[in-house]
Formats: sequence, structure tokens, C-alpha cells
Amino acid sequence: MLANYGYKDGSGDYFITIDTDKCDGCGECVTACPAQVFAVADEDPNDPMREDPVAVVADEKKKKLKYECNPCKPSSNRAVLPCVKACESAAISHSW
Ligand code: SF4
Ligand code: SF4
Repeated sequence: MLANYGYKDGSGDYFITIDTDKCDGCGECVTACPAQVFAVADEDPNDPMREDPVAVVADEKKKKLKYECNPCKPSSNRAVLPCVKACESAAISHSW
């Protein structure tokens, strides 16, 4: 399942998508992100049937992603983003 976190405004769409089928809750993204954007939840808040840990975007970051991620961007190659690079399961993608 694709879990989308973020928002859109007049300047664009700012969403981080976590593919929860790929995410194993390892927490590497939590460690890698300098802005503490990620957290690992014990249970998936978007899927009551799932009981395994999964990465989520922290509540207090959801409406500020453009600004929180700005130090990592602009990047012409999204693979170099620390969060994307840290995730060996390739579960993280960004819309911008
Ligand atoms: S690094 Fe990838 S697999 Fe590990 S918790 Fe983060 S999103 Fe999930
Ligand atoms: S782009 Fe940078 S600040 Fe944004 S989630 Fe990834 S590691 Fe964190």
C-alpha cells in the first residue's frame, strides 16, 4: 500500500510516499534524515490489518515538508537524498 504524506500549495506538490509493502520498519530512514521527518510506528496507522512496524512521516512534519527537505534539495538525482539512499527496500519516494 502506498501511504502519502504531505500537501500541495500554490508552488507545487510536496508529498513523501512510503510503500508499506516494501517497508520492513528497519528505521534506517529515521537515522539518515537530518530533519527527523520519519518515525517508525509499531503498527501501521493507515492499515489496521498490519501489525508489523512501519515507517511514517511524523505528524509535526507533514505540513512542512517543502521546508524540512529544502537542505537536501534541489537535487537533480533523487537517489542521492539521504532518506532514499538509506532505504535498501526502495520504499521511499518524493513527489518533487
Ligand atoms: S529505511 Fe525504508 S524499509 Fe527501513 S523503515 Fe525506512 S522506509 Fe521502511
Ligand atoms: S529529503 Fe532530507 S530532510 Fe527530506 S525526508 Fe529525505 S533525508 Fe529527510
